[in-house]
Amino acid sequence: MTERIRNFAIIAHIDHGKSTLADRLLEKTGAVKVGAGQQLLDTMDLERERGITIKLNPARLAYAISGVKYQFNLIDTPGHADFSYEVSRSLAAVEGVVLLVDATQGIQAQTISNLEIAKQLGLAIIPAVNKIDLPTAEVAQTSEELAELLALDKEKIIHLSGKTGQGVEQLMAAVVRQIPPPTDATGGPLQALVFDSFFDQFLGVVAYVKVVSGRVAAGQKLTLLATDRLFTPNQLGAVQLKRLPQSSLECGEIGYLATGLKTVADCRVGDTVTAAGDPGPPLAGYREPQPMVLANIFPEPGADRLLTVALAKLQLNDASLTYQPTHSKALGMGYTVGCLGLLHLEVVKERLEREYDLTILVTPPTVEYHYRDGAGSEPWVKGEIVCPKSYFGTITQLISRHRGIFQQVEYFGSRLICQFRAPLVEIITDFNDALKSSTAGYGSLDYQFLDYQPVDLVTVDLVIAGEKIDALSRPIIRSQAESYGRQIVERLKELIPRQNFEVSLQATINDRVIARENISAVRKDVTAKLYGGDVTRKRKLLEKQKKGKKRLKLFGKLEVPSEIFVELLKKN
Ligand code: GDP
Ligand code: MG
Repeated sequence: MTERIRNFAIIAHIDHGKSTLADRLLEKTGAVKVGAGQQLLDTMDLERERGITIKLNPARLAYAISGVKYQFNLIDTPGHADFSYEVSRSLAAVEGVVLLVDATQGIQAQTISNLEIAKQLGLAIIPAVNKIDLPTAEVAQTSEELAELLALDKEKIIHLSGKTGQGVEQLMAAVVRQIPPPTDATGGPLQALVFDSFFDQFLGVVAYVKVVSGRVAAGQKLTLLATDRLFTPNQLGAVQLKRLPQSSLECGEIGYLATGLKTVADCRVGDTVTAAGDPGPPLAGYREPQPMVLANIFPEPGADRLLTVALAKLQLNDASLTYQPTHSKALGMGYTVGCLGLLHLEVVKERLEREYDLTILVTPPTVEYHYRDGAGSEPWVKGEIVCPKSYFGTITQLISRHRGIFQQVEYFGSRLICQFRAPLVEIITDFNDALKSSTAGYGSLDYQFLDYQPVDLVTVDLVIAGEKIDALSRPIIRSQAESYGRQIVERLKELIPRQNFEVSLQATINDRVIARENISAVRKDVTAKLYGGDVTRKRKLLEKQKKGKKRLKLFGKLEVPSEIFVELLKKN
């Protein structure tokens, strides 16, 4: 039964053409009409607009070659470091991958990191060089480098254009030939791997699953092993852009289970679905998401309740999102949200604004520090950088400047792959920008969480006009605390408008002043000049002030627009 099934994913660096190729596969197999649209597997508005894939999307395709019919199950994977756990689980659900490399860009960091996961899982790998239709495509060189990376003959590399469809037939034939069919892992009771889940208004939580052993039938009593939840699916079947209900999912098949559960936290990625009466063992690799990037978010005055409701709803659909209430004297009531990374945080912010019509202020993110017995620790990542060979010196300097540790370098073709480790906080502040600017845009970076490592932290507070501003307190590495304090006080001096009295600015650690500045009082005649004369300008100013009023905060006698705080904490 399973020998006609081929389960595979497309992996690539971002923008190398996964979603476009997926569209061509949907067309070639008749799942959609030719020219039906673009990026069919990207479902969220946000995904289409930004050209990124956030949610995993499976598609079942019918493919026939030499009179034999095959069932293809294709999974489109998200292409961002924040979602690397989701990628690893989707790859655990397939037997092979198509490894795409853009012929105008060559091998990049995510090519390497995804390839590593595929290798670890022992998947069949079909290498392909994409975008060969472009005049700037360097097909020969890219093929050579890819062949060298995979240690295989360059004739084995498929030349593709996801845009024109060239090479896609050849790719599909290779999928049949080179990717093994799934097998029943144990021959025992049901084990289905959840590789994605989301909340549907009508069906409750829907899980995308791969049946690893046994089979699952409609109406069967099931359980989730990690969360210990029981459910009877109200529907199950295949996915082909829309859901196609079936009476069962057989071993080796990929499809969906409508669990009827109310929150995705009960049906997490990586969990095992099994029969309630005859449970099989849990599948390897389950992990709870670890939100490591934190930011405070504050609603506009009066929108507190709405934000609370919105976050609760959002969490029903996002098991990786955490939040807890916080209060800042400067910014009022808000929440500390925990996200997987910067993109995830941005997605959360955008969804709050779009789907709930909120305007929120997000403080620049920091990482989740752990404290135990007075000792701090911080998350570290392992990362890989891919760039032209000549930048080796630049890269090692960049790494050490960010408190990182260089691990090893490998050369192939014109490029190098550098492996390193570094604190996550360094990566999320400006590492990527620094990498791009120091490698003329050629360097690419990918990283995965490694572990927590000791760090010596102090809390740097800011005191404005004698008042400590809690929203601006930050944990800082002890050795960097003084320079941070000086820098932030100087920036604050630039950002805070002069008042008609002198304002003192201080950075302190445990009430000990480490940096200090004063903003001198404004002279009366200057204001007079500024506001005199031009009536329209004056009105405009007043209007602007009225708009900004909502966010003006009072510190003693001092009024400051609260956006200043966010501006302030951004790295310059
Ligand atoms: P993904 O991030 O890997 O899913 O990449 P997309 O499929 O979204 O493609 C990124 C960009 O490259 C889009 O603008 C596509 O239109 C374009 N693109 C993808 N494949 C090809 C191709 O074969 N040829 C050309 N010329 N452009 C392509
Ligand atoms: Mg995509």
